Amino acid sequence: MNAEAIGCATPATAATAPRVLTERGQREVFCGLTGIIWLHRKIQDAFFLVVGSRTCAHLIQSAAGVMIFAEPRFATAIIDERDLAGLADANTELDRVVTQLLARRPDIKLLFLVGSCPSEVIKLDLSRAAARLSTRFSPQVRILNYSGSGIETTFTQGEDACLASWVPSLPAAPAAPPRLLVVGALADIVEDQMRRTFAEIGAGEVDFLPPRRSTEPPAVGANTRFLLAQPFLGDTARALEARGARHVPAPFPLGARGTRDWFRAAARALDLQPERVERALEPRFERAERALITYRERLAGKRLFLFPDSQLEIPLARFLAEELDAQLIEVGTPYLHRAHLAQELARLPADTNIVEGQHVERQLERCVAAAPDLVVCGLGLANPLEALGLTTKWSIELVFTPIQGFEQAADLAELFARPLLRRTRLVA
Ligand code: SF4
Repeated sequence: MNAEAIGCATPATAATAPRVLTERGQREVFCGLTGIIWLHRKIQDAFFLVVGSRTCAHLIQSAAGVMIFAEPRFATAIIDERDLAGLADANTELDRVVTQLLARRPDIKLLFLVGSCPSEVIKLDLSRAAARLSTRFSPQVRILNYSGSGIETTFTQGEDACLASWVPSLPAAPAAPPRLLVVGALADIVEDQMRRTFAEIGAGEVDFLPPRRSTEPPAVGANTRFLLAQPFLGDTARALEARGARHVPAPFPLGARGTRDWFRAAARALDLQPERVERALEPRFERAERALITYRERLAGKRLFLFPDSQLEIPLARFLAEELDAQLIEVGTPYLHRAHLAQELARLPADTNIVEGQHVERQLERCVAAAPDLVVCGLGLANPLEALGLTTKWSIELVFTPIQGFEQAADLAELFARPLLRRTRLVA
């Protein structure tokens, strides 16, 4: 079989679920370093030190270029060819950079050494470096490491690798009644709204991973019930399960229906009183549904093509089809975690074409031939597709924008409606 062109169809889950085509070939994705852009905003006392090349430094600088900080919370330690002379030199250099950084920045409580894909970096054992430096700087600073490499990964996996690296050192939860842990970086405003809703449904104290401050990490143990807020956290979920935590199967909190059913899943896992849960969810759900009406009018019947990029594609497709009556031509996803996405897959129209992986040329051909009303894709494909007269939405925006929860349902719909409106204006 040609490694460039594997294509096989397998059922996603249940007998009625859409079929999945697997493709392998050239891919168009950003690397995991991109995750630093939203993670450094979320964890306020963390610092991300990329151990990489000048290319990595450029990527991270230009991706974060719109943000000017007096004291940024990410940097790149450039390991260049000079360091190939000896790994001992590279380790000494890394120790020097970290020592200097921590002396200058006593506000840093958690330092992530972030690996990258240049061969000189791959040769460095960053886990040993993190252990060595942790011994030296603990308890003031905890030092962890993960890889943001772009080899065989996609950009949201940076968050997965970051959180997974943290899980083993989270404190142990005492034996107690089940307690909920929401996993996945969310904008602070979304987290606050969710906390209020959890309090109203009677869920008690709820933890979030990542926390806003690394010095207040959630405890994990056999009583932990974790609910994923993002669909790209397979390694983090595995690490939590290794600590005894139990996954709560749920859809993702996108749109009115996705959010309502996400909260309902949490309520069932905690055995909450159903009447109280519905009393708290109903007015929020109604408001979100009302806010979606105008967007449904604009998006109903619109033909959408989603390229694989953020790993949010399956829950987004469910939202677009189920809540906005959009028509899905093709839904690409870099990876398909069938267990975590089971409830989303089951709610997609049975004839949805799902493609896991990517063969970018073939996908472009299918996309152009289908002439969709809107293409959701990575930055690299947007301009060429626009030049061909297609309307595009950058999928990376969906990761940077607060889109989860009842209050954001209309904002999420607006992200898809706006490019269509812009195109109508251009054409008029
Ligand atoms: S980690 Fe690899 S893909 Fe990412 S910027 Fe650095 S060299 Fe490029």
